[in-house]
Amino acid sequence: MKFGTKLLHGEKTIDKNNGAVTLPIYQSSTFHQFDIDNFGEFDYARSGNPTRNILEEEFSKLECAEYAFAFSSGIAAISSVLSIFSSGDHLIVAEDVYGGTYRAITKIFNRFNIEFTFVNTEDISNIKKLIKTNTKAIYLETPSNPLLKITDLKGCIKLAKENDLLTIVDNTFMSPYLQNPLNLGADIVIHSATKFIAGHSDVIAGLAATNSKEIASEIYKIQNGFGAILSPQDCYLVSRGLKTLKVRMDESERNAIKLANWLEKQDIVDKVYYPGLIYHKGYKIHKEQSFGPGAVLSFKFKNIEQTKYFLNNVKNVVVAVSLGAVETIVSYPVKMSHAAIPKNEREKLGITDTLIRVSLGIEDIEDIIEGFKVGFIN
Ligand SMILES: *Cc1c(COP(=O)(O)O)cnc(C)c1O
Repeated sequence: MKFGTKLLHGEKTIDKNNGAVTLPIYQSSTFHQFDIDNFGEFDYARSGNPTRNILEEEFSKLECAEYAFAFSSGIAAISSVLSIFSSGDHLIVAEDVYGGTYRAITKIFNRFNIEFTFVNTEDISNIKKLIKTNTKAIYLETPSNPLLKITDLKGCIKLAKENDLLTIVDNTFMSPYLQNPLNLGADIVIHSATKFIAGHSDVIAGLAATNSKEIASEIYKIQNGFGAILSPQDCYLVSRGLKTLKVRMDESERNAIKLANWLEKQDIVDKVYYPGLIYHKGYKIHKEQSFGPGAVLSFKFKNIEQTKYFLNNVKNVVVAVSLGAVETIVSYPVKMSHAAIPKNEREKLGITDTLIRVSLGIEDIEDIIEGFKVGFIN
């Protein structure tokens, strides 16, 4: 079965009891036990809820995983996965990880004596040099945020396996439609389901998936033990959004390709970052490890006045935090996703005051471009 069909006709999409075609919302915190010696499948909804279970199972199929877990946010999924590590462990982390991940690591996990080293993962030899006896995992994001840097997943996974390390990939930018890190050998894949998976700017959610029974049991222990679970109502919204993932992503990606090519030709634009552009540094690797360049791009204006003017005047888009929605979202990384990263660190990463990130939606591209022109001075 191909991906688009799987989204609609997966195993559990029809309720066996009554034929309902949408995910039933079991708004129940507890479950009656018919036999006190033999509890049923569910007892308390933090530990398991039928709505969440179905979503987790559906999602696991999409990431080609045996096990999946739904969390109350992407960052809850990330923090829960990071919580499987222990005091004394060392992790190597891509230096341009999502701002919230950076914050969780540098402001919270550092308190628990888990050691993290940030590095540019575009070059695998950088990672190799950092491996120590207590290194336990490599944490990656590709394409990265907001400069769409590409990491060679196969190369990293090979290095990780040789050194007995886990590979964890935040796959939010691609969605399970465009990239499947587990199929390339990664151990854990994480998503902010808030973004492309749910797709409608109406829910905060996170997902994590793995093929390892042992890792799954560790993640479940945290999901149940820390309790950052996704509510049944929100599971429903994720499931509803997921059905159109393929058509949304196809349309958004087409728009991204067109916008990238148009931006390229504008004199006031300094540089465009998009893995679908042939001169993009990671173009070839990305093409090999994914099924498309995706719907997120970023670009730099030549000066700050134009950047501010654009943000205050651009039309037919939303200027906001977040990405992966049906509406085009324009964001300003230095004040939004990367505000938590100190200015000098940001600048070193190339995240300057003139950088704009765009997550394409499904509007007509002609209107997006017209709206962009309104934001151009002169
Ligand atoms: C948004 C985002 C997150 C965090 O997800 P939330 O749902 O906002 O908690 C993590 N990683 C990436 C790449 C993101 O874009």
